[in-house]
Order: sequence, then C-alpha cells, then structure tokens
Amino acid sequence: MSVNLQTPIDYLKGVGPNRADLLRSELGIHSYQDLINLFPNRYLDRTKYYKINELQRHNAEVQIIGKLTGFREIAQKRGKRLIGKFQDDTGTIELVWFRGQKWIRDSIKLNTPYVIFGKINWFNGVFNMPHPELELLNEHEKNLRSSMQAVYPSTEKLANKGISNRVLSKIMQNLFLETKGRFSETLPDHLISELKLLPKSDALFNIHFPKNQTLLSGAEFRLKFEELFYIQLQLILKNLIHKSKIKGFPFELVGDYFNSFYKTHLPFNLTNAQKRVIKEIRHDLGSNAQMNRLLQGDVGSGKTIVAFMSMLMALDNGFQACLMAPTEILSVQHYQGLYELSKKLNISIKLLTGSTNTSERKKIHESLENGELQLLIGTHALLEDKVKFKNLGLAIIDEQHRFGVAQRSKLWKKNTSPPHILVMTATPIPRTLAMSVYGDLDISIIDELPPGRQAIKTVHRYDKNRLKVLRFMRDEIEKGRQIYIVYPLIQESSALDYKDLMDGYESIVREFPQPKYQISIVHGKMKPADKDYEMQRFVKGETQIMVATTVIEVGVNVPNASVMIIESAERFGLAQLHQLRGRVGRGAEQSYCILMTGHKLSQDSKTRLETMTRTSDGFEIAEVDLKLRGPGDIMGTQQSGVLNLKIANIIKDKDILQSARFYAKKILTNDPSLALPEHKVILKTYRELSKYKNIWNYIS
Ligand code: ADP
Ligand code: MG
Repeated sequence: MSVNLQTPIDYLKGVGPNRADLLRSELGIHSYQDLINLFPNRYLDRTKYYKINELQRHNAEVQIIGKLTGFREIAQKRGKRLIGKFQDDTGTIELVWFRGQKWIRDSIKLNTPYVIFGKINWFNGVFNMPHPELELLNEHEKNLRSSMQAVYPSTEKLANKGISNRVLSKIMQNLFLETKGRFSETLPDHLISELKLLPKSDALFNIHFPKNQTLLSGAEFRLKFEELFYIQLQLILKNLIHKSKIKGFPFELVGDYFNSFYKTHLPFNLTNAQKRVIKEIRHDLGSNAQMNRLLQGDVGSGKTIVAFMSMLMALDNGFQACLMAPTEILSVQHYQGLYELSKKLNISIKLLTGSTNTSERKKIHESLENGELQLLIGTHALLEDKVKFKNLGLAIIDEQHRFGVAQRSKLWKKNTSPPHILVMTATPIPRTLAMSVYGDLDISIIDELPPGRQAIKTVHRYDKNRLKVLRFMRDEIEKGRQIYIVYPLIQESSALDYKDLMDGYESIVREFPQPKYQISIVHGKMKPADKDYEMQRFVKGETQIMVATTVIEVGVNVPNASVMIIESAERFGLAQLHQLRGRVGRGAEQSYCILMTGHKLSQDSKTRLETMTRTSDGFEIAEVDLKLRGPGDIMGTQQSGVLNLKIANIIKDKDILQSARFYAKKILTNDPSLALPEHKVILKTYRELSKYKNIWNYIS
C-alpha cells in the first residue's frame, strides 16, 4: 500500500500538533504532498572542510573537523552562556550556546573528533560559532550524506519556534522514509527516455537530498520541464478546444475588393513579413474556426495595411468589419487613412467616437443595422449596446494592451456567433512570454520594417545641457521639421505632473516666441474637441512644436515630425519610451530622440536609458524590460499562471519553456484527445490538473 499523500502533515513522524500549526500558517504546508513540494531555495556545499586558520570573516557557513577541549560559563544579564573551546591542528574557535546547556555538557565527548557546521562570527578578536551542528567524526563518515544540503524557505517565526532548517530536513527525511521515496510518474516514458529526464521519484529525492551536482541539475531540469509542460499543454488544449467548439464564419472567397486593392491600389510593396502575416490571417479566416489572433509588430512596421486587407476579406464575403482604437486621436487617424483607401473601392466607412454628435450617431446606428455601412472605425463607443451590426464578420482591436479582456469579449457578442478577432499590439512581448501569456491566441509577428527607414538617433542628455538641446531644436525647425516634447504624466489627476507640463510649456513658449514659432499643447484634461484641434494643427504643419503628455503615445502618425524630446525620461518605463520614440522616424528625414534627465539616476533608470540609446529593436527592449520588471508587470501575465511557477523561472528557463511547448504541441498534434495508451499518464495528470489550480497539487 502506498502512502496517501493527501494525509495531513500532523501525522508525519517528527511533526506533531504544534509544528503542524506552524507549518500550515507559515509555509502553507497542509499535507505530505505540500511538504514534498517545498523546494529548496539553495544548497550548502558540505564537501568542503575548513581549517581554523583558513577562516575568513565573510565565510558564512563552514564545516570544521576538530575536538572540544573544555567548557566555561559566562554570566550574562539573564542566565549564562556556555562556551566550548574547539580546536584543530591550526587554531582555536569558540562554540557558543545560549540554550540547552545542560544537555550539551552531558552529551558531548571531550577530546574526541567531531565535525561541526554552522555560521561563524568574529567577536572580541576570535571566531565563534553559535549553536553549531555537531556530529562525531566516525558517525559522520558512516553516513552516506548528501554533499549538498538543501536550504528551505523559512520565516522568522519558524526559526524562533525551533523549526530550523535542520528540523525541516529531518522531517523531509521522515517523509521519504515513510513513502519509501516512491511517487507515481507523471510524464510518459517516451518523453523521459527521449529527453533523458530523471524519473519522478529520483527527481524528487535529488531535489531534496542531492547526491551530487549532476543529479541535482537533472532533478531541477526534470521538475521545471514538467511544470512548464503542463502549463503549455493546458494552453494549447484550450486553444484547440476553442477552435473545435467555436465555429467561425468561413470567408471562402478572396473576392473583388481584396484583389482589386491588391492589384491596383496598394500604395507600396508589402514587406515579406506583411505578406506572411496576411497569409496566416487568410488561412484562419478561410477555415471553419473562429480566428483569435494576436498581431505583434513594432511601431511603424505597417500593421494598419494588414488590418485593412483583412477587413477587405470580410467585405468580399458579405460581412461587415470594425476597427477599435484606444483613443480619439488614434481613431480619427485610422479613419482618415482608411477612408482614403476605401474611397477608391467604393466602400462605405464611418467614424464613431465619444464626440460623434447625436444625429450622426443615429445615422450610423441605422446604416449598421441595415447593412449599408460596411466599415466602422472608432473608440470604446463601438462597444455600446446600441451599436448593432447586421452581420459583423471581423473585429480588429488596435493597441490591445489598452483594452481589457472584458472589452474583447464584448466584441464577441456583436453577432449571433462571434466574429473573427484580430488584436494588434506594438508593445512587443518577448516570444517566450507571449507563448505562456497568450498561449490561447495564435500569434503573428511582423518582424521587418518597410524599406528605406533611417534608424532614429537616440541620445541621453542631462538637464544642464538644455541650452544645446534648444539650439538643436531651432536648427531642426529651421530645416522645416516638427518636434514633440513629452512630459511624464503618471497619473492623469496628479496636480504636480500638470505643473511640470505647464511650466515646461511656458518656458518653451518663451524660448520659441510667436509669431515666428507656433506651439501646440495636448493633454488628457482637455476636451476631445480641443485636443483634436491642437493635434490637427500639428498634423497640418501649422505648429512646429507639440508639447504633450503620453496621450500621443499610441499610433499617431506625423511623418514630418522628426524630433522626439522626452522630459524626465527616467520616469518612463522602457516600453513607453520605445512607444514614444516610435512617433518619429516615420518620414524620409533623419530622426532624433533625446532623453532628458536630471543627474540622479537609479541603476534601473540607467539601464533603461542605456538600452534605449543602444538599440531600437522592440523585442530586445522588451527582453530587457522583462528582466528589469519581471513578468508581473507585463500586461496579461496576471491571468496566465506564469506567475505561480514553483520551480521554473519564466526568464531564466526560456529554453526549457520552449522545449516544453514543443513537446506539448507535438504530443497533441499526434494525439489530440490523449487517447493513446502511452499518453494515459498525461491524461490522468491533466485531469487532476483541472481539479487543482497548479500542477504541484496533484502528485501521488
Ligand atoms: P504601425 O504598425 O505602427 O501601426 P502603420 O501601419 O501606421 O504602422 O505604418 C507606418 C507607416 O508605414 C505608414 O505611413 C504606412 O503607410 C507605411 N507603410 C506600411 N507598410 C509599408 C510598406 N510595405 N512599404 C512602405 N511603407 C509602408
Ligand atoms: Mg498602428
């Protein structure tokens, strides 16, 4: 009979009710299983024995062979402390006990070889070791001990209540004795042999009691792989189930709109990446399943044209399409661009935003419902219940990170069965992370910029060099260029940030006086109509400088603007800096990005600025960002479970993640319902998985 791993921890030898309570409250360990899954933080090297004359003040934990030659007691405020003189052939240290003194005196054999282990301190000119671990040398030699000793996570309370690392190790040992260290395998044999993985039982044994470094690495690899494998399996299955359950509208034709646009109206040659992505979308739309695709492409990579051509596929099949953008400015710009393209094809297109007036709104509602209106562009206004389509076939969301999952699902409900969904983002998510976070979406990537783009020159300047920067600005304006100056606005409501912005604006007005210079200002507190007016003046080239907050971050396209100045750049995140820089470099002229900061910079700020000046590759920037911030702050990670990893690390274990995903996919491709006998173990594990939240809750 095997031991039931759901057994409450109280029943384990060496635990008892008090310790059980502490393990529950401090470490969340309720059952045997929870204890097995308490993975060590690190390991101590017990292969090294120090000589006393080798000790240095920074050796934290050391192991020494020597003899106790005598004791003395020293009185202190409360009670006394016991000092033992311990020596080897090179010197002497003091062992110190504040508790259990009688037991020590009675049980220690003087002048007999011991191995001691513990932390050393330097005090009053000698090294001492409080409460050392002591073991007779001949016992020590008999024990087949692990050369590396696991160090478990702990808390102050545990330590104070006497549940030391040694006690935890002992309890763990009892658990392995009681279960005989045998645990059910949770991966199929063919994977274990193909990848040369340690069997589950060996992996669990060696993670707690590593026999050597090789076995420890093997154990870590096996457990990380398993953890990531089941997460990927879950995501891929979710995606497959979705595809089989949710029927999409098959767009069978590639018809006149698409073909005539492609042949006669395309304003430029598509890049290879754009062509590839259009094919991927075409494939999805032509199948019977609903498309759920994420399109990633750096700023300026040309996502809009891909969106438009996808919409044409919908129209060719008698469906309507819509495009939703997060801001008024961006929607207007999309509308204007797409209006020009649609005009040539006689396609009806309208714009719907918060500032669309009532009579226009009414007309839009009507023509949408009777099907006269083919394309609708707009903001969140599209989501309102009153907005009803006759036959919506494709919904596109631009800059999807600005929208929540709830909004995406609202679009799903705009037809009797859900329309195809394409979400676009210019916030690059490292591939590895995207796999975990958006594993349920298919991903397309435009990884190529249209030809002829000049790299944007990016520099970091300190505030004290402002005069030079102003001179540079004048020169560029002289050449006919336009300039953005962006101020941080962390919170729309922060009065302090507005003061910075207004002060900045006023000093710019002083430096660049009218009528020679015209300056626009745009920020979130302005009425949409005023914002739009200012923005339009800049777009038309009537103003040379645009002072703004991050409202201009997304999408805005002014090809003649070639200088981006970011004030207090240290206050922006990397993703945001990269987005802002993407506002320039859209025309033929050499563009510049100037990052202004004060002198005091944190290490992270320095890394961000250095990264910005070194590279303009969005994916590389995203990798750095991920390292600086961890996955917790990256959009979408909260929902995905990548943060609940127990042993794998999404950043460091990228390669294992990739391999886990590869095998999960391979297995599901050959055996989508996991029906083959050799996959029984996966199915069983997977079923348990859906019962419990994370994969460590079901080992047996
Ligand atoms: P983003 O991916 O940031 O949304 P846009 O779709 O706004 O990028 O495209 C940026 C600019 O590049 C636009 O002016 C667009 O017309 C232009 N563009 C897009 N694709 C190409 C291409 N294949 N060749 C030349 N210019 C292109
Ligand atoms: Mg765009």
